[in-house]
Amino acid sequence: MGPAFLFGARAAILPPMTLLYSQRDILPTHAVRPLIDRYGRQISYLRVSVTDRCDFRCVYCMSEHMEFLPKSEVLSFEEIDAIASAFIARGTRKIRLTGGEPLVRRDIMELVERLGGYIGSGLDELTLTTNGSQLRRHAEGLARAGVRRINVSLDTLDEGRFRAITRRGRIADVLDGIDAAAEAGLKIKINMVAMRGVNDDEIEPMMAWAHGRGFGLTLIEGMPLGEVGIDRVDSYLPLKELRQRLAARYTLEPTDHRSGGPARYDWVKQTNGLLGFITPMSHNFCESCNRVRLTATGQLYMCLGQDDMVDLRATLRTDGPAALDAALDRAMQLKPKGHDFVLDRDHTGPALSRHMSVTGG
Ligand code: SAM
Ligand code: SF4
Repeated sequence: MGPAFLFGARAAILPPMTLLYSQRDILPTHAVRPLIDRYGRQISYLRVSVTDRCDFRCVYCMSEHMEFLPKSEVLSFEEIDAIASAFIARGTRKIRLTGGEPLVRRDIMELVERLGGYIGSGLDELTLTTNGSQLRRHAEGLARAGVRRINVSLDTLDEGRFRAITRRGRIADVLDGIDAAAEAGLKIKINMVAMRGVNDDEIEPMMAWAHGRGFGLTLIEGMPLGEVGIDRVDSYLPLKELRQRLAARYTLEPTDHRSGGPARYDWVKQTNGLLGFITPMSHNFCESCNRVRLTATGQLYMCLGQDDMVDLRATLRTDGPAALDAALDRAMQLKPKGHDFVLDRDHTGPALSRHMSVTGG
């Protein structure tokens, strides 16, 4: 069945906007011209922030009175679909939806279903990172759309502490959401930002809880992104130090397990589970970076910790989807060698004014 026929067949059933933008039916089964940056790194992983909004205000991520972008500036689902398909046509195999909180965007399942349609046609994996608050109502839909694994962010198991960290979240909703995801058959990895004096006494209990339920646990070092509600220097906990602490009590066996992202994993013998470490501060992993990030308003950032970007929304709205391909080539010329986060008493402010929720965590 040729592409032209398929295109014609879809014309009868799809709204005009979809036809205009989606290249779903004309995707090659493999990338002809992979996206390779100036340092020889192939980009095969796109993270998409579907909204900068969130129902939480985690102290390390947002300020208490966060101002969100006007909705009119945010990419439509058609536009996200067009950009995703341009990436897939150039060899992107994994897409992660994030934000902000991806599951608070209205009708988000519509986008998940659209992008899920690319799985097996260039895309290997569609996944998302979520705070879990809305998982109960979406878990089954995610599984139906082809999502197999999700990351759920959870920094504590203590109700009061959870409320203090998120400033407004209810841990019961998140735990219930995690149950729903497990019931729907989704594989779950828990992300925990490790903070000295905030939750560093909970690493072992979290590991026992996560591994006891068959979930992975990945620890993350706090990064200096945006003005927030926490002293980043005081709360910074180098994961190397934490790993040494854990190694005194547990047998940590290094593995070559990779999840397509920056985490490095140990197998913990006693708890029978994977423990991941994401160490942007103490150990720079940029040499193997395979990712770029699309903001909710369509700016493509080549690095979480740098300002280089290409405005794909402008490209799309001015010149149409055919212009995206060349824009991706331009973007590859801009991908920096790495971030240069510094965090000490001389550098207490954010390395970048852009919050994680804007670029997409
Ligand atoms: N709202 C979703 C969530 O919390 O999972 C997705 C977006 S959130 C920005 C993605 C991840 O970034 C979360 O695991 C969060 O803990 C992490 N994060 C946010 N700000 C961070 C920071 N400044 N340093 C390190 N991790 C951060
Ligand atoms: Fe929201 Fe996620 Fe940021 Fe917390 S980490 S404020 S849940 S976007």
